[in-house]
Amino acid sequence: MANVIDMLKCKCPNCKKGKMYSKLGNLLLFKAPKMNALCKECNFKFEKEPGFFFGAMFVSYALVAAEMIASVVLFKFLLGFSYINVVIIAITTAILLSTINFRVSRSIWVYMFYSGD
Ligand SMILES: [Zn+2]
Repeated sequence: MANVIDMLKCKCPNCKKGKMYSKLGNLLLFKAPKMNALCKECNFKFEKEPGFFFGAMFVSYALVAAEMIASVVLFKFLLGFSYINVVIIAITTAILLSTINFRVSRSIWVYMFYSGD
């Protein structure tokens, strides 16, 4: 469970102290999060090989899908909003969470392939 929290906080999988990102990114300023190449605490290399984070895209799709399903369930089935409103809310949610999705999907990817060496 501690691992999941470290993963969501985008901490280094090796030492759990260093941060994966030097900049968190800002949706309103169109700034993407900036990732550190190495962990500042233990020199763990986040990008194992060039293109390593290509697969994180699929994690990101899964996160977006889960968030959209969650907002549809909440607003349509629990609160009874109309379909058009639910679609607008679901899309807005995906956009608002996009920088978080970007960070967390890469973090999940790094943790998935971390073997503890
Ligand atoms: Zn580290």
